[in-house]
This record gives sequence, C-alpha cells and structure tokens, in this order.
Amino acid sequence: LEEFPYQRILVLGLAKSGKAAAKLLHRSDKKVRVNDYKATPADPDVRELEQLGIEVVTGGHPLEVLDDIDLIVKNPGIPYHNPIVQEAESRSIPIITEIELASRLVKHDVIGITGSNGKTTTTTLIFQMLEESHCPAQIAGNIGNVATEVAQSMTPNETMVLELSSFQLLGIETFQPKVAVLLNIFEAHLDYHKTMDHYMGAKANIFKNQNEADYLVYNLEDPHVCRMVENAASTKVPFSTKQKVTHGAWCDESYVYFKKERIIAKQDIVLVGQHNLENILAAISAAKLGGATTEGIHQVLTTFSGVKHRLQFVKNIKDRSFYNDSKATNILATSKALSAFDKPTILLAGGLDRGNDFDDLAPYLTNVKAVVLFGETAPKLEKIAQSVGIETIEFVDNVKHATQKAYQLSEPNDVILLSPACASWDQYKTFEERGDMFVEAVHTLE
Ligand code: ADP
Repeated sequence: LEEFPYQRILVLGLAKSGKAAAKLLHRSDKKVRVNDYKATPADPDVRELEQLGIEVVTGGHPLEVLDDIDLIVKNPGIPYHNPIVQEAESRSIPIITEIELASRLVKHDVIGITGSNGKTTTTTLIFQMLEESHCPAQIAGNIGNVATEVAQSMTPNETMVLELSSFQLLGIETFQPKVAVLLNIFEAHLDYHKTMDHYMGAKANIFKNQNEADYLVYNLEDPHVCRMVENAASTKVPFSTKQKVTHGAWCDESYVYFKKERIIAKQDIVLVGQHNLENILAAISAAKLGGATTEGIHQVLTTFSGVKHRLQFVKNIKDRSFYNDSKATNILATSKALSAFDKPTILLAGGLDRGNDFDDLAPYLTNVKAVVLFGETAPKLEKIAQSVGIETIEFVDNVKHATQKAYQLSEPNDVILLSPACASWDQYKTFEERGDMFVEAVHTLE
C-alpha cells in the first residue's frame, strides 16, 4: 500500500473481505485491530489473525474499539445506523470499504459495474468477452472474489472486472475505474439507505473520481440513471435498446451494434430476455472500451447461456428447452423470465410464503399452459393460475418431482421454466440448492 496516510486501522466485520483487508494492512506495517460482533475467540479466522499479532475483539461492538483509530475499513453489510458506525462518524473517523483498499493496489485498468439488477450477469459477460479476446483479466468484488486478494495477485497488464454493490461504493475515497458501468436504478435496499437519493448517491460514487479520460457506460433508457450522470466529468458512453446511439451500443429489430459496427444478429444470441439485452449492450460497450474484439464478443454471445440460476439455459431434450431461474425469488423476477419467451411454457413455482399475494403475476401468464407447484405458496399460486384459465395445475413435493412432472406434461417446442417467484427457505437452504436440484433432475431425463 503506497501513499496510504492512515496508521491505526480498525477492520469492522470479519467476513472474507475483512480478513483479507486485515492481513494486507498488517503486512503493510499498519497497526490493525479487528472487531466482529458474531465471531468468537475460538473461530479459526480469529486465531489465525491473532497468531499474526493482530488484535481481535469479538462478541460485540464496544465503543472503545474506536479509541486511537484513524481509519475504519467497514464490511459493506454493516449499516451506517449501527451505533458503532454512528459513534465513528461523530468522532469524524473516515470510513472506507475494502474496495477502496483494493483500488489503491491496482495500478492498471479497472472496469467497475453497478446497478440495482444485472450486475453479476454483466460482470460475467465482460470478463468472458475480454478472455475470448485474449485480453488478460480477473473478476472480483460482489461476485465473490475478494477484491484486495485479487488485486494482490494481478500482473501489470491485467484488467480487473469488478462487480460493485451500493454498500461497497459508499466507502470510496480515490477509487477511479477506467470504465464505469451503470445499469439501472430500481427502488432497493431502502432499509439500509433510507432514501432513494442516498441509494443513488452511493451508486454515483462509481464515477465520482472519473475524469474525461475515463468512460461511463450508462443506460440511456433509465431516467434515474440519466439524471445521475448529468454532471459526470467522464466521457459518456450511453447504451439503448430503443434508439440508435452514435457513441455506444444499441440495437434494431434484427442486429446489435456498437457505434457504427454491426456486432451480432439478435437471433444468434443464446441469452434470453429483454433485461439481458440491456446487460449485453452494457457489456459490449465496456468490453470494447477494455480492448475486446468483435470476434471475442461474438463468440461469448453465441455460447454464454446465462449465469447459473439466472434464467440460465440448461438443456434441450426432445425439443423441450429447460431454463433454471431459481434466483427469481419475487414476482418481478418471474415476470421478467416469463416475458422472455413467446412459446408455450410450463412454469415450476412456489416456495416460502411471505404473506403477499401473486395477483401481479397474472398478466405474464399468457403463454403458460401448465403450472407445477411446490412449497408453502402452492395454494396461492393455484388460485392465480385458475383465475387466468390455466387448466393443468399440478402439486408436487419438491423441485425434482416438479421437473419430472413438467417433462411428462410437455410437448415439443415447449419451454420448461423453473422461476419460483418465492424464496427457497421453506424447503431449501438457498436458491442455489433449489436450482441445482432442478439442473440435476433435467440431466436425468431422457
Ligand atoms: P445482480 O447481480 O445485480 O443481483 P443478476 O445478474 O444476478 O443481478 O440478475 C439477477 C436477476 O435480476 C435476474 O434473474 C433478473 O430477474 C433480474 N435482472 C437482471 N438483469 C436485469 C436488468 N438489466 N434489468 C432488470 N432486471 C434485471
């Protein structure tokens, strides 16, 4: 860590990123203290840090941990209204996230991606497009690879493709990506941010240190996004699914373009869904600005079938197409998935009952010829399916049986879609476990 003016640093929250930050700071001869609410002295991570000579305070957030501290590296999950953070603010101790540390280590190009939805998909697309174009890159951030760790393993000519949440972006001082991508803004995380302005302000941090030598890729069709970027100093590169843009990515009925260049025919793209088209346009722009070739981009778009559990194409069996959208834990996500297909669809849905009804799903069920239901919400989903005149409604115990039942009911040309519109916790540990059960079941069908 060069030119890092802080000496006594508190790492608040010992997740993977906190541990990596503490070790890095310790190695950089900083005096480091770690404080975690949930951890215990017996935890292997705590012991490992203590053996290095790092002070670790567990089991609460006593205010004394702030004494003598001149910087806090805060885990993004700890909200600003937490008393320890409030106290730090009242003592005017600067607060950053581990992303700021990572950015101090990366001496080369960073492509940063944020937005309310589509971050993981777009980040993955950009990374693969660079790889296919033989541009060395590493992927990091919110997607799961701790940014400081990745930053330390990078070689000078590599690009870091960095997925960023609003929580991570709040603690930014000098972070200045070469390319920033701002996908969209929906109402989200208001328990954390309290107001939309605060949430949008956090997202806007992605370009706050950019200058005109840096690029800001943004969604021209999102009014919140357009308002946010108005005063950006960056070179702006808009993308649009609705109109031609001279400086960025866009599409017409049949083709996708970057500026004047035709990149790919829409029918050759494997990824489905209007929302994914937006992600694709964003990814093409960022990848092009990062040095990707049209051939590399084309190759990815003709093969990439989606990030796991996100409207991911699984397999075609006897002219039935199976899609795993287990990440769809609410009605909005499932409605997007259903809108992606204009073929007869068998929908697999159900899960944790949060007390809401499913009326808003009704307009999206027009192509649905059968539903196979499981979990707590099955009776509610039955009601909505009946109300739109779906005749085939089946109840099963779990996703494996749902997959088998759907296959029995299906005919050639059908889409079989797991898009539960509910969280998984009534029956599964995670939506990943639920999606894996689907994929496994699909692979046993003949
Ligand atoms: P994130 O990483 O931001 O959570 P993902 O790429 O994991 O986003 O996608 C999660 C879900 O968000 C998808 O299954 C889809 O329902 C929805 N989604 C993805 N991209 C977009 C987009 N551009 N606009 C609106 N919704 C989207």
